[in-house]
Amino acid sequence: MGKTSKDKRDIYYRLAKEEGWRARSAFKLLQINEEYDIFNGVLRAVDLCAAPGSWSQVLTKKLKENTTNADDVKIVAVDLQAMAALPGVKQIQGDITKLSTAHEIIKEFEGFKADLVVCDGAPDVTGLHDIDEYVQSQLLLAALNITTHVLKNGGVFVAKIFRGKDATLLYSQLKQFFELVTVSKPRSSRNSSIEAFVVCQNYNPPSGFVPTMINPLLDHQYCDFNQLTGPNRFIVPFNVCGDLSAYDSDTSYPLLLDGQTTYEYKEPIQKPIDPPYKNILEKTKNMQLNK
Ligand code: SAM
Repeated sequence: MGKTSKDKRDIYYRLAKEEGWRARSAFKLLQINEEYDIFNGVLRAVDLCAAPGSWSQVLTKKLKENTTNADDVKIVAVDLQAMAALPGVKQIQGDITKLSTAHEIIKEFEGFKADLVVCDGAPDVTGLHDIDEYVQSQLLLAALNITTHVLKNGGVFVAKIFRGKDATLLYSQLKQFFELVTVSKPRSSRNSSIEAFVVCQNYNPPSGFVPTMINPLLDHQYCDFNQLTGPNRFIVPFNVCGDLSAYDSDTSYPLLLDGQTTYEYKEPIQKPIDPPYKNILEKTKNMQLNK
């Protein structure tokens, strides 16, 4: 990635280079830990959207401090992009919103649970805020979905969130699964960025909740969410309906629609009793009478 001189002046960029972190993001996770002590007692962790790997580096360093036997530590890192190998980190290259990747991650954890799941995922931003926020929320929901399969009760989940207009819906969804949900903005996260991190502590899914792969995510391989019942419907489905060729409610269309050559005025079935344009209608009528 090309760096401009402005990036080089960035203190965290410089420190990352000096201290050997693969990205300045390392400081975000370290600062979150300073506040919430998220690595306390943690031996098994999942790093979702991990490339180039600075969070995995932080995990490797911090988790080793929790044991005298390095073999106790298990870290699984996942990203769309290939990542240079890191000793002690099992890597999976894949899309976390894809059912197949979710299966791969869960398989890695067969037989035991993780103490911590982190996700620093960010989509390639399009500049269209609604779309960027939507894709970001899909990453977060995919991460939460995987988390419900692998996280031990009482475990911690940390994930990047865009503080957009729909963020409160995500907070309330997370609150269904964790006793404590806090939004955190590390000093190393630029003020100009809408990114923040949800720190979700004490995993405690609703009674009767069964981790499932039937979830309303972008990947249509995830099945019909109508199959979700009871507490499993806590992930609120967002469903766009109507055919894609239907009229867009935010677009202005000409009077003559496709295939029409003449416009035929149709009287409204129910005329407004007191329309806001009543005055102007009366004035126009009077002007016509005065002619
Ligand atoms: N935490 C990383 C570190 O410290 O080095 C930086 C992560 S970077 C900000 C965001 C990453 O999210 C990118 O490497 C990108 O490939 C990954 N990503 C975005 N969408 C993804 C997806 N659907 N599945 C897996 N990874 C994804």
